Amino acid sequence: MTVAVYPGSFDPVTNGHLDIAGRAAKLFDRLILAVFETPPKAVLFSVQERLDMLRLACAPLHNVQVEAFSGLIIDYCRRERAQVIVRGLRMTSDFEREFEMALMNKSLAPEIEVVCLMARTEYQFLSSSLVKEVASLGGSIDNLVPPHVASALQAKLPRLKEIQSGQKGG
Ligand code: ADP
Repeated sequence: MTVAVYPGSFDPVTNGHLDIAGRAAKLFDRLILAVFETPPKAVLFSVQERLDMLRLACAPLHNVQVEAFSGLIIDYCRRERAQVIVRGLRMTSDFEREFEMALMNKSLAPEIEVVCLMARTEYQFLSSSLVKEVASLGGSIDNLVPPHVASALQAKLPRLKEIQSGQKGG
């Protein structure tokens, strides 16, 4: 049985993430979407909120499970007996960083393979941060995230604006 882990911040989950999850779920017997509890960047949604949004979005995928993780992803994979790490690759923004992380993970855990799936054309420029930016400016994000995520973002707009003004102020 091949178990794969698809790790990320998912702050929040977008249709681009879900496309990768759906495709990876067809390739492996079991897929765990691993939500990074405390990523190095500021998050808008708590880990519980990110888990809940992902769980709802992935409900139709019967071999997919959504869990939180902290620490090194390779340690999590070993605990879960996963042989594969799945990542999504967008054309311009991801390659260098993903390559760097894959090489580091390979040197730490040679038995684990990193499998990168290419983002679909329509999701090449879709990211959680762009979705948050568009939402904060009042643009429509209906084609970018599932409906329950769009509502959750609307509810978080005051907090989002607070974070953004904090970032601008340094
Ligand atoms: P991280 O903080 O680990 O980058 P993200 O939630 O931003 O977490 O992304 C998780 C994974 O999903 C990464 O491999 C990222 O490249 C990929 N990803 C993000 N957005 C898209 C998209 N629009 N299409 C395909 N893959 C994506």
